[in-house]
Amino acid sequence: EAKGKGKGRQVTYAAEMDQRTAEQSRLAADLRVALDADQLTLLYQPIVHMPGGELYGVEALIRWNHPARGPIGPDVFIPAAERTGLIVPLGAWILEEACRQAMAWRTSLGDAAPRTVTVNVSARQLREAGFASDVAAVLQRTGLPPSTLTIEVTETAVFDGGSALAEVRAISALGVKIALDDFGTGHSSLGLLRTCPADVLKVDKSFVDDVTSGGQQAVVVAALIGICEGMGLRAVAEGVETAEQAAELQRLGYRYAQGFHYGHPMPASAVATYRPAPAGNRIAA
Ligand code: C2E
Ligand code: MG
Ligand code: MG
Ligand code: MG
Repeated sequence: EAKGKGKGRQVTYAAEMDQRTAEQSRLAADLRVALDADQLTLLYQPIVHMPGGELYGVEALIRWNHPARGPIGPDVFIPAAERTGLIVPLGAWILEEACRQAMAWRTSLGDAAPRTVTVNVSARQLREAGFASDVAAVLQRTGLPPSTLTIEVTETAVFDGGSALAEVRAISALGVKIALDDFGTGHSSLGLLRTCPADVLKVDKSFVDDVTSGGQQAVVVAALIGICEGMGLRAVAEGVETAEQAAELQRLGYRYAQGFHYGHPMPASAVATYRPAPAGNRIAA
């Protein structure tokens, strides 16, 4: 009886996996259409200088407005796009669109434009030989100065093998900034610092969450700012949701942050009018 139950559970599990695979293929097929049908947009989340809350940069985050299912988040469709290779044309579109928008802000806002626009790049994209040349070509087409673009990579993507690390080095050599995303969540984060060129270290939200709760991860947050200062990296705290977290991060020496406390991902048009939260919501440096 117990054995029968176990087997039943296995069958259910296998069926579930089949269903999930089928679901992924359906998504990928729809996504292929979406790319040509204007269903994809980029939102931009503020990266702020905490002492005054002013905008420093923005991170481009993709959104899919599915005609039948409504909005679908990148956590759902980026993995499907990676598995099918569709991330390559999709990623090319994202990069071009973000650079075009960054250049438009520079033209219309001048000194008030975000100083950097960051774009997430997935493992599959980095593995494509010649990816760095594609980045160079986009910069040339859009006229965007390389130093105002930041490419966000994860440890998993860089260590994925093939030419990933070589591509990151080539992108860095163009003068484009490299940010290490979700830092601290991989298997060899410190190893990454030794081999991968980096300008920015984005401390993962899971560590930031703990910074005011006296949890163990708070120690990691404190140690990482020391590493960044010693290595000349800009530290950005990710997923800052409360004024208390912002205050504690600043006490530890952090100056840059991203998170719902400062702003949700927003349409490009809203970036132009972004203003720091009212003073009552901020903590003096
Ligand atoms: P990520 O690059 O680490 O981006 C940060 C994610 O955290 C975003 O989720 C953002 O909306 C969310 N976030 C920011 N602040 C807060 C906060 O205070 N609280 C909470 N709970 N969440 C916060 P999103 O937009 O759903 O993106 C999820 C992931 O999908 C990204 O993580 C990135 O890995 C991937 N992704 C998003 N856009 C792209 C893209 O254009 N290309 C690629 N390759 N991946 C992307
Ligand atoms: Mg990111
Ligand atoms: Mg991140
Ligand atoms: Mg993340």
